[in-house]
Amino acid sequence: MLGQMMQGHLLISTLIDHAGTYHGATEITSVETNGTVTRSNWGEVHHNSKKLASALTKMGLAPSARCATIAWNNRRHLEIYFGVSGGQFVCHTINPRLFPEQLVYIVNHAEDEVIFIDATFLPLVAALKDKMPTLKAIVLMGARDEAALESIPELQFYDELIETGDDDNTWPDFDENTASSLCYTSGTTGNPKGVLFSHRSTMLHSFAAALPDCIGFSARDIILPVVPMFHVNAWGTPYAAAMVGAQLVMPGPGLDGSSLLKLIDAEKVNIALGVPTIWQGLLMAAKETGSTLESLQRTVVGGSACPPSMIDTFRDDYNVDLVHAWGMTEMSPLGTSNQPLAKHAKLSVEAQNKLRENQGRPPYGMQLKIVDDAGNELPNDDTAQGDLLVRGPWVMSGYFRPEKDDGLRDGWFDTGDVARIDEDGYMTICDRSKDIIKSGGEWISSVELENIAVAHPDLLEAAVIGAAHPKWDERPILVAVKAIGADPKPEDLIAFFDGKIASWQKPDMVVFTDTLPRNATGKVLKRNLREEFGQVLMG
Ligand code: AMP
Repeated sequence: MLGQMMQGHLLISTLIDHAGTYHGATEITSVETNGTVTRSNWGEVHHNSKKLASALTKMGLAPSARCATIAWNNRRHLEIYFGVSGGQFVCHTINPRLFPEQLVYIVNHAEDEVIFIDATFLPLVAALKDKMPTLKAIVLMGARDEAALESIPELQFYDELIETGDDDNTWPDFDENTASSLCYTSGTTGNPKGVLFSHRSTMLHSFAAALPDCIGFSARDIILPVVPMFHVNAWGTPYAAAMVGAQLVMPGPGLDGSSLLKLIDAEKVNIALGVPTIWQGLLMAAKETGSTLESLQRTVVGGSACPPSMIDTFRDDYNVDLVHAWGMTEMSPLGTSNQPLAKHAKLSVEAQNKLRENQGRPPYGMQLKIVDDAGNELPNDDTAQGDLLVRGPWVMSGYFRPEKDDGLRDGWFDTGDVARIDEDGYMTICDRSKDIIKSGGEWISSVELENIAVAHPDLLEAAVIGAAHPKWDERPILVAVKAIGADPKPEDLIAFFDGKIASWQKPDMVVFTDTLPRNATGKVLKRNLREEFGQVLMG
């Protein structure tokens, strides 16, 4: 027997319709590329996104045409998110920090037809555009700018383009499984791989993200997505914010600690989301200026492991609850977030704090399991470590136009992470499977060692890698960047691990370097470090 409820596709256009209709006056603050702050609201974003969809249709784009963006987090980018996807096109966000060859590769691989760019990226696109034959239009995200025409004569202007769209445009209706957006992973090897999200996956991800035990968004929040809109759709924040009608503060290009601090204080931001390195900058700026981060209640931190010392500093010095979350591009990205259970209230404060350190538990919809090398499922006992596999309606079923078959493992996606899971489903990432250190048959988590090392006051950054060893196959070594003005001794740094981990897990050696090599999303390129330092223990 079929249920007798109304049918309707879960489309991204319904999100912006909701925000525009019921939260039209709720403010969208945007830091523009030139540093000025502009104020708009969900009503205007709704109106403009509908006009943009109409303008793109008039341009002659067919359904599912890819429209790329190379842009900061700002109001026009938000309108493009909803206008492109709502108009039945695919919003392809591009990370401007990619190497130029990779950028050209992905535009050609996606066959992008339109590219929206912020002024910052004019020189980049002017230099590369002749290598991107599928592009029909390059659109500068702003008003008409005669000077910009000198570098790209065929340039169009966003504010003029949307005026070609109809005011009374209505959204097209189509299957919710239709592609809505596209994001390439900036892996550390090989060509970037495309993950093609659908309207349905985006909507279900938004419902999950907004739940109180996941990220937790409401109409009373003022949200600062520091995580870029080119990094897995800013973790889905624009969609989830529209779903609940929250206020958004879009930070533009100023992602340094002092700019973020001023923005948080001026706009009374209460929730901010970003990767750990961003918060390191913010904490340094807050310390220097004496700001108490008064409005801030919660930071959501993911993208790489969040050192426990950062959770403590936010809580103890600023009364900010840091929610540690984990995910990946292939998962839209949210997989887990660390929020307590009712029973945890009975634990000591120390035990409660300890529980908040791991990557957290999955929201409804996401399933996790760990397996051994043979694919056998391992117990959720917080001890067994294995390959982490995931399944759910916002997990990728395969890459976009793959070079080789990257199929699933029996219907599960292999994350490439090694993890352990406790009986309540709280998951701890031990390492990327290729970064875990195999010392004489035992595994050592590089992440665990790094978390300890970065709490040392004389270090700015640290990475731990496995170096080849004649007896143990591999042993951990610490690659460290000294804090400004500090000159720590290697033996003192190694002694810093005493009592925090088993003695056989301590690094064998410390090597100092000026900076850590990072990829386009800020992750440390351990492969480069292994190439440079991987043989230092071989004598
Ligand atoms: P990306 O697709 O670029 O977001 O990268 C996903 C990978 O980042 C994951 O597979 C993890 O290895 C890593 N990652 C993301 N969040 C965390 C976290 N909270 N702790 C540790 N690693 C993380």
